[in-house]
Amino acid sequence: MLRSPVAKKAEPAKGESKNDNKKASKAPAAPRGVRLDNVRNIGIAAHIDAGKTTLTERILFYTGANHKVGEVHEGTTHTDYLPEERAHGITITSAVTRGTWKAHDINVIDTPGHVDFTIEVERSMRVLDGAVIVMDGVRGVEPQTETVWRQASRFGIPRLVFVNKMDRPGASFDRALESLRRRLGANPVPVCVPLEDGGVVDLLANVCYRFSGDRGETVTSEPIPALEQEAMARYRENLLLAAAEIDTSLEEAVIMGEPVADDVVFEALRKGTLALKLVPVFGGSALRNRGVQPLLDGVTRLLPNPLERPPAIARRVDGEEELVEMTADGPLAALAFKVQLLEGRRHVFVRVYRGVLEPGMAVKLGGRGKEERVARVFDVDADQKKRVEMLCAGQIGLLAGLRWATTGDTLADPEHEVLLERIDSKEPVLGLAVEPETSGEEEKFLDVMGKVCEEDPTLRFTEDPDTGQRVLRGMGELHLQIVFERIEREFGLKVHAGKPRVMTRETIAGNGDSNTVVDRLFKISEEKEIHLKARALVKVRPLDRNGGVTTEVTPKILPEGTLLTVAQQDALKAGVQDAIMGGPIEGAPLQDLAVRLIEVETFLDASTPQALRMAASQAVREAIADAGGLVLRPLMRVEVVVPDENLGQVLGDLQSRQASITGQESDMGMTTVLGECPLQALLGYTTELRSLTRGRGQFTMEFARFDAA
Ligand code: GDP
Ligand code: MG
Repeated sequence: MLRSPVAKKAEPAKGESKNDNKKASKAPAAPRGVRLDNVRNIGIAAHIDAGKTTLTERILFYTGANHKVGEVHEGTTHTDYLPEERAHGITITSAVTRGTWKAHDINVIDTPGHVDFTIEVERSMRVLDGAVIVMDGVRGVEPQTETVWRQASRFGIPRLVFVNKMDRPGASFDRALESLRRRLGANPVPVCVPLEDGGVVDLLANVCYRFSGDRGETVTSEPIPALEQEAMARYRENLLLAAAEIDTSLEEAVIMGEPVADDVVFEALRKGTLALKLVPVFGGSALRNRGVQPLLDGVTRLLPNPLERPPAIARRVDGEEELVEMTADGPLAALAFKVQLLEGRRHVFVRVYRGVLEPGMAVKLGGRGKEERVARVFDVDADQKKRVEMLCAGQIGLLAGLRWATTGDTLADPEHEVLLERIDSKEPVLGLAVEPETSGEEEKFLDVMGKVCEEDPTLRFTEDPDTGQRVLRGMGELHLQIVFERIEREFGLKVHAGKPRVMTRETIAGNGDSNTVVDRLFKISEEKEIHLKARALVKVRPLDRNGGVTTEVTPKILPEGTLLTVAQQDALKAGVQDAIMGGPIEGAPLQDLAVRLIEVETFLDASTPQALRMAASQAVREAIADAGGLVLRPLMRVEVVVPDENLGQVLGDLQSRQASITGQESDMGMTTVLGECPLQALLGYTTELRSLTRGRGQFTMEFARFDAA
């Protein structure tokens, strides 16, 4: 029998509680009554302005996650969105919000929109079980749609697409599908198709939904309008064929045009979605409250529950890999994915992968050797702060009492330390000198800087001990600008920022060596002198870009047969480390080189640990000087989308910024240009691009590597 995803005529859509979970009986039982098969941990991602915020608001409203909305809304007309947006803003900035849809718990995990925050998107991707990608029905796939798509693919996240803004003139569902195919290589399969008259056709139920009430909360179904029936029949056939490709037992019935049970088709679509073989597509208009409830049905019926995700991979202390099965019995493995200050206190969002987390438990921070205690455990709904007795594998929650755990850390059983793959932290490559705008706000300023850095691992705040200059570093101009706006809004503090400065690194230009003797007399007092003497032979050679620094400190020791004490060996290592802290040109950290300490000669009592440290460090410095230094600057991967008629100018401008173009692709009157460009040359580029393209061009960038300009 067909299960319409909405309630009968004129009833609120949330009414229905019937839901199938044939999996329920098979799923491993979570302890103490937790039903994981009814949980969906999802993220909503989009290119900026596609309508992510608007859609999220609607979802939170329909799922009852945002009770406040209804109240704010009372007595206002349905065109009056502004006050709501203000009210929503608060909930949406919370990292996770939970709502209920037809007996399912939907956790919406916030994924930030701008590419300057790629790391945030990545770290939240890690803990998602599924995602909804929002697209603008006029613009189709945009650069950031591609970025989040790639990330979702990298983490194997099944996804649905919502083609939004179908109310706008020029919107085209078919063109959106075409751009999904062409630009993302996706296999889009429409499930709910938006009509021009505002209805949304459910291809499986074969009905057209109408949305009424102040916020579209009343959903009714009607027959598909006669004029649309033919087109919808084609979509439906397409859908059935896609299902038959996944479940070949459907093939015959589909080809013969025999009826196929909805549930069977859904199950095939679900399989295809989980296997990343197809992407179910929904359409509508979040702003006009159209098509969101059917999308929620899609989330519960087509996206996986936590138990259906492949096991995570962890590394043990002995370096061996371990598969972490999603089960409540087993040593704890949980991932901290966001630190947030709530009511001034530090809270850590976690996703549990294995075992259970309870208040009072000691946890080890995998790979960091630190151990600390969880004081309290809360439900994810940060606004309500409901304390819970435990979290089990598959769940997401909020912990209080942790002082050290930070984004990307694994919380593990102290007896079984593991490290879940760490989320890569991106380099904060742009720095601004900062100070409080009003003097006398020193203390508050330092406090606020500490707080924002604590929450966002892509920010660094440093103070030069010599000059006293304070620098805040981040991922890009927009990133820092948003941070300053937030500081002003939330803490009432105005920050004065200097000119942007690009961070640098240094490396060596070729091979180098040095045979260095340190031979010095230090006068300790009138009568006493100490003699320090040692010789070190060092070779350095350059490594490929992003090669890091490798050091080899296992020298041949002379005279023959001499054995170094532990203190002497440590001193050699420390000496090498001293020398690679800063390069010969700007004193910036060194990278992309290999350092080999080849030979060390000792001179009896004069070769103290201090002497060895000095010799090693000086020898490395001299070898680096011999090789010749080279300054490396941040090189960004850029993606610029421009109307074809402005392409020439934009390319010329990019060339004048020393960009190297690596690819170019044209699609529906717009060209996407891919390339690499030094960050320095991109400062202020957004403004320039706008004026070159009369506001139509778009640009995103991402750190690639430090390289010689
Ligand atoms: P985000 O940047 O992805 O979070 O996008 P927002 O939700 O902030 O929306 C960006 C703009 O598009 C806002 O002005 C919205 O009012 C508008 N918008 C969002 N959804 C729709 C829609 O379905 N139709 C139309 N016409 N505008 C929309
Ligand atoms: Mg937004």
